[in-house]
Amino acid sequence: MSIMEMSHRGKEFDAAIKKAEADLRALLAVPDTHAVLFLQGGATTQFAAVPLNLCADPSVPADFVVSGSWSDKAFKEAKKFSAASVAWSGKDGKYTSLPPLGEIKQNPEARFLHICSNETIHGVEFKDYPEPKNASGILVADMSSNFCSKPVDVSRFGVIYAGAQKNVGPSGVTPSPSCARTSSATRSPSRPSCWTTRRTPTTPRSTNTPPCFAIYICGLVFEDLARAGRPRRVRSLMNVPFTLAKGADFEKQFIAEAAKEGMVQLKGHRSVGGVRASIYNAMPLAGVEKLVAFMKDFQARNP
Ligand code: PMP
Repeated sequence: MSIMEMSHRGKEFDAAIKKAEADLRALLAVPDTHAVLFLQGGATTQFAAVPLNLCADPSVPADFVVSGSWSDKAFKEAKKFSAASVAWSGKDGKYTSLPPLGEIKQNPEARFLHICSNETIHGVEFKDYPEPKNASGILVADMSSNFCSKPVDVSRFGVIYAGAQKNVGPSGVTPSPSCARTSSATRSPSRPSCWTTRRTPTTPRSTNTPPCFAIYICGLVFEDLARAGRPRRVRSLMNVPFTLAKGADFEKQFIAEAAKEGMVQLKGHRSVGGVRASIYNAMPLAGVEKLVAFMKDFQARNP
């Protein structure tokens, strides 16, 4: 049986979702205060579900940093379910900037402050995040287009949500590391029950059938990212040692051919062998680009 044929309540799928959760926790160092949810639908679903869950009724204020098309869409959707207002807008600057973090006009009564961590259309990315100045201390981030691309201090966020399809898996699931205190504010009878989110690690995972296949694939991606991330986190940008899969003879040939093209001192240190490119300050970018082009050419000639 494939994962798509199994019951989502069976122990096999349970193992798959637990593994996906554990790998995402490890990858982003998600603290125990936060549940890891795999929500149905896309990030657009969360544009509505977040205010529906966090604001007990449409009179409750919420702050939005509007830094591009996606946060603007999130703001407009939230207006249907909350008293959302713009705490900062980059519209006049054609969405090419972000506010100095202290300049966001936050409403202390707001239930949450919402940002889009990376504006996919305008190419504007937060490198640091604002502190929520609202009484609940909740910062919400749409991380759809830079989720799992770099370390993030998850403890600073009440809710993170990210449509999976850009960075971590197929569409249809939205991973959402969220703090337990962002559980649905009220269980109003008018709130759609499938979007009423209880964000505690102990609540049942889903009111209805979760997007099992998408979650399974996300799990594989988290595992792969974690594996790749381990060496990458400590990889030196100054000394770049590497080996060739085809062995030491090929390394000799690589070093000799590179020398003919004027790229010298690529032999790895005698204690470890292999190849080493040292990119000290005097090395211009053109030197790195030349080596990269040579490596691609060498690979093509020696498949
Ligand atoms: N937010 C951002 C930042 C996005 O890039 C996108 C998709 N491009 C969305 C939201 C909408 O996502 P979805 O299609 O999953 O609803």
